[in-house]
Amino acid sequence: MPFEVKKRLGFGCMRLPLLEDKRVDLEKFSAMVDAFMAAGYNYFDTAHGYLDGESEPALRAALTSRYPREAYVLTNKLSTYHFEREEEIRPLFFSQLAATGVDHFDFYLMHAQDRTLYKKYRAAHAYETALALQREGYFRHFGISYHDGPELLREILTAYPEIEVVQIQLNYADYEDKAIRSREVYEVCREFGKDVIVMEPVKGGSLVKLPKEAMAVLSALGGTPASYALRFAAGLPGVRMVLSGMGDMAMVKENTALFEDPAPLTEAEREALSRVVEILRSRGTIACTACRYCTAGCPRGIDIPTLFACYNSKKMHGGWTPKYYYRIKTADSPKASDCIGCGACEGVCPQHLPIRALLSEVAALFE
Ligand code: SF4
Ligand code: SF4
Repeated sequence: MPFEVKKRLGFGCMRLPLLEDKRVDLEKFSAMVDAFMAAGYNYFDTAHGYLDGESEPALRAALTSRYPREAYVLTNKLSTYHFEREEEIRPLFFSQLAATGVDHFDFYLMHAQDRTLYKKYRAAHAYETALALQREGYFRHFGISYHDGPELLREILTAYPEIEVVQIQLNYADYEDKAIRSREVYEVCREFGKDVIVMEPVKGGSLVKLPKEAMAVLSALGGTPASYALRFAAGLPGVRMVLSGMGDMAMVKENTALFEDPAPLTEAEREALSRVVEILRSRGTIACTACRYCTAGCPRGIDIPTLFACYNSKKMHGGWTPKYYYRIKTADSPKASDCIGCGACEGVCPQHLPIRALLSEVAALFE
């Protein structure tokens, strides 16, 4: 990693303990920071919009005003919601330094890049503005957090070789997921020699709260569901940091203990995780194999298997990410509801899927 991190667990500051009025409970958060630091960890991740703007000042109160600057590594991001034009970026950046109480960040990431946002960031010269700030000494290392497919990532990494790290969504359930394509995205990072920071290693908590049948598979091995998910992410070559959005002291204790020695998964554990994924996939999902035979003849150009993959992800895990990915996938291409019912796709589907009816279900779920 192009900076000094003591251990490979990062404190994601987007799910901090809150008071009733939705402000961060600084007493609890400070105790969590102290426990994290005392255990030998030092990496913190935030963004301007986390917790409706409360994350940055909470870090100032609990971390940066209480520890010397060299004691921690702090990552912040340029998020889309807070700027429209180039001239708004520098004032935003300096407001982030002030809010967190530091004179520089260790890392600054272009936040949540996908095809739509990348266009916006390019138009606003966001990458160039950030790189100028880096040259002026306001942050040490440049990167992106990323939420799209391998093709766009390759394009971005080629256009901006200055990028040092890529933060990606990676967990054992998404690894072979046809919509999220974690493995392919991860492999592009490796191809370009970029360090990987993992976000969503427990898929927003859905790999902690597993269906009973899946829970039984992991319980038989003796570890917690979170421990297997974190070890899966930590065990991949090139993964230099695994973020966990910790919300209470119990999570800090469990995660810091685990990362003392995040042993690679054994063969039996890998098989168990495959079984868990099978169980998750059996929960009312569409039996599309993503062969893509159906797409070439669709007069509306609908990416049928990708939309089905989003649907399956929602059925397996719930949560907000499938809808988020559906929105990304359909930002510049047709939605499920654009189907005109011609039936051309059903004639070629080797799985004999009732694609028109299924697309109606997809539309009902996401639109
Ligand atoms: S039925 Fe809908 S999805 Fe299938 S080919 Fe026709 S327009 Fe495309
Ligand atoms: S032809 Fe059928 S199985 Fe193949 S991608 Fe299309 S819907 Fe999926």
